[in-house]
Amino acid sequence: MECIFCKIVSGEMPGKIVLRNEHICAFRDIHPAAPKHVLIVPNKHLASTEELSRNDRNVAAELLLAVKEVAKLEGISETGYRIICNCGSHGRQEVSHLHIHVLGGAPMRHGLG
Ligand code: AMP
Repeated sequence: MECIFCKIVSGEMPGKIVLRNEHICAFRDIHPAAPKHVLIVPNKHLASTEELSRNDRNVAAELLLAVKEVAKLEGISETGYRIICNCGSHGRQEVSHLHIHVLGGAPMRHGLG
């Protein structure tokens, strides 16, 4: 198993875990791009949104629902946050395990991309 996010999910590699359930794991980004920066990943290895199928609809829903839970835990529900999910080379995805970035704790820059 070479995937670093699979290793964090399994506990083989350390991670600052924020939230975990049977479907997802959320942990702090090692290079935070905002005062609060958490990654939410499915426990099941899926390389990106391109690997999602209808059979994974439960996982897809759990990922999005976890965003709200993480925001609450991080104390940024009221002030707001940005979620980003990079896919593939044009999306500049660096880690090939589907993940949602949750960024907050300060106003984000204007614009996307
Ligand atoms: P992406 O470019 O969307 O694939 O983002 C990958 C993110 O994973 C980057 O923000 C990295 O800082 C983060 N990252 C890489 N390795 C680790 C790790 N071991 N623990 C936590 N975050 C990591």
